[in-house]
Amino acid sequence: MNLQTTDKPPRLPSVDQLLQTLGDEIEIHGRAQLTACVRAELAAAREGVRGGLPLPGVDALLGAIRRRAREAGRARLREVFNLTGTVLHTNLGRAQLSETAIAAMVDAARAPCALEYDLDSGGRGDRDELIAPLLAEVAGGDALECSATVVNNNAAAVLLALDTLARGKEAVVSRGELVEIGGAFRVPDIMRRAGARLVEVGTTNRTHAHDYAEAVTGRTALLMKVHTSNYAVVGFTKSVGEDEVAAIAHARGLPLLVDLGSGTLTDLSRWGLPKEPTPAESLAAGADLVTFSGDKLLGGPQAGLIIGRRDLIAKIKKNPLKRALRVGKTTLAALEATLRLYRDPDRLAERLPTLRLLARPAEQIAAVAARLQPPVQAALGSRATVAVRPCTGQIGSGALPVEQLASFALCVQVPGKRPGRALAALDAGFRSLPVPVIGRIANDAYWLDLRCLEPADEARFVAQLGGLR
Ligand SMILES: *Cc1c(COP(=O)(O)O)cnc(C)c1O
Repeated sequence: MNLQTTDKPPRLPSVDQLLQTLGDEIEIHGRAQLTACVRAELAAAREGVRGGLPLPGVDALLGAIRRRAREAGRARLREVFNLTGTVLHTNLGRAQLSETAIAAMVDAARAPCALEYDLDSGGRGDRDELIAPLLAEVAGGDALECSATVVNNNAAAVLLALDTLARGKEAVVSRGELVEIGGAFRVPDIMRRAGARLVEVGTTNRTHAHDYAEAVTGRTALLMKVHTSNYAVVGFTKSVGEDEVAAIAHARGLPLLVDLGSGTLTDLSRWGLPKEPTPAESLAAGADLVTFSGDKLLGGPQAGLIIGRRDLIAKIKKNPLKRALRVGKTTLAALEATLRLYRDPDRLAERLPTLRLLARPAEQIAAVAARLQPPVQAALGSRATVAVRPCTGQIGSGALPVEQLASFALCVQVPGKRPGRALAALDAGFRSLPVPVIGRIANDAYWLDLRCLEPADEARFVAQLGGLR
């Protein structure tokens, strides 16, 4: 089809002419979307001509329209390869869900489900009750005395607990535990938002039992301990154990609230990982309420879990703020399926991606690196040298901040004394692949930590490397 007449000066084809030529693409993108892309490209071409550029040919125009339509049709929330070395990367979505959790989410999304419907009585049910007994079971709480509730994330859990128990009153926290978590979660700020007055005790490095005891007044609502999840105070330090703080609180008729942050449900040392506190330990030590995240070491969906004393949980559930912070059916479905996996610890590392990735032996990662070095080197050609190197990664999301995970990486180096710009270009190149690859620049090299590249994804990773040229 000839869209340009020969006897008049060349001009751009009309919207209709272009749409006709694009025929099949209407099926893919929809008429409205494709028309918008045609108009946008025509406008860009006119703008270009005004700026002195030549009139684009029809083929160039059609190509640009197709690219624009494809780009517009692509989801903004995109899959990436997380080769940063940080397993629970907050900016990359934290925990990858297990297959059973994914299946449960899909089922809950697709069909009506008994979210708040009691199938025995036919009356109204309680969405928290889908999870509470199971959580008490796998988190090691006493099922009779223990109850639980689920909200949007752990920040919401802390906010809700403080708002319910300490609004208009005082909450006592050690100065060494006034943490800030990435993404603007700060204990003093949350406290203020919850209408509680923060009473700081001790010093940054040392807090004693008598500091807590002396801080309690008639206005005190609770004592709080916060797991210092993303830093460590080392050297001349002293902190007071949960059991001691609980005893001080209980002697005065007050509850102890513990924000555990990550809160794994199992002893990670079984998989060669450093130990992280569990809700069971906090509850056994006397904590009345424990809060933790669903998508950190637990390996589930984004959620905040509050587990503890039945009467306090009941109070929390009556707070109108709970209604505003509650989670939806897909989250609960994924959470339930994730918690079920903990019933079979022997197969947990196989089924729970978070644990599987964290527990992956360094030799296995080294083997991945050895397999991928040749194709990555081939894709980069003479622009860079690719070597297999040992490196250290992190668990991430504040869990075990000072612990490092021994891993292996492809270390990409570029020639020249000041490689900064070339490395930035390399980084951008990997990020612009169909499934963007997220690595990191450190020590004058570009690093791809292969801990999170599982065997099933290796072929997909390699297949797209041609796009780097
Ligand atoms: C991560 C963390 C939070 C925030 O949890 P989110 O689930 O990200 O809202 C709060 N407190 C501690 C100690 C944490 O580690």
